[in-house]
Amino acid sequence: MIKERKFQVEMKTLEPFRIGGKPDPMGADNPVAVVGSNVVVPGSSLKGAYRNALERYLIDQYYDRGERKWLKGKASLQPCMAGTKLSKDEATLVEQGLYRGQACHYPCVRRRNRCGDEQHEVCPVCYLLGAQGLVGFVRVPFLMSEVSASELYSARMDRAMGTVAEGTNRPYELVPHESTFRGTLYVTLEDDVLGWKLGEPRPLQDRTGGDVWLEADGTWTADKIIDELIVKVLQSVTLLGGYKSKGFGRVEIKVTPA
Ligand SMILES: [Zn+2]
Ligand SMILES: [Zn+2]
Repeated sequence: MIKERKFQVEMKTLEPFRIGGKPDPMGADNPVAVVGSNVVVPGSSLKGAYRNALERYLIDQYYDRGERKWLKGKASLQPCMAGTKLSKDEATLVEQGLYRGQACHYPCVRRRNRCGDEQHEVCPVCYLLGAQGLVGFVRVPFLMSEVSASELYSARMDRAMGTVAEGTNRPYELVPHESTFRGTLYVTLEDDVLGWKLGEPRPLQDRTGGDVWLEADGTWTADKIIDELIVKVLQSVTLLGGYKSKGFGRVEIKVTPA
């Protein structure tokens, strides 16, 4: 049986808002993501923003920028740089020790061009959100809105005039400010088939360094993980979607037990 805890995620847009969907062959340059007739925030967009916020939270809390190292006993909280190919800027963050250079994965493959003899740990971010080959404890939902895509189209120019860069006459599809999006986030507390419990290292049978951040510390209870790394960090996301430099994307997120 799987024991879960449910949370309502409610997001209010404080500025015009846009998350891209597929390009629309009929004309609009910047379509928003739509399911049925309603505008949504895809789970992958919210998950990306949450992942980023969680990386930053761990670095802010547990990395000493002055000393340029992780606080004593906290090195296993270092997040990985998800994605396979690093940009130059990302490589610098890895060199400085803020991030692990290799994206978390499971299992470790004993080939020279893969893991060799090393067994890589799984970082806290991937513990919660999943790594290549391994699911996590948190399922980030799509956030649905009452805003219909057709309303959006007719409203867009009026709503846009104040904020969209002047001199543009491209049609922007955007969600007006003070729109509300909602979804349900699930956190796995226990999976007794796999023998997983939130806050405990997982009994993974194949080659891996495993969930060392939990073994090393011992203070990360399920409640502390939920309060500190899930609710608080998800609520700290204040910008989402496209055109952030053009006055788009400020949001307010509230996470409450459902
Ligand atoms: Zn990771
Ligand atoms: Zn490995």
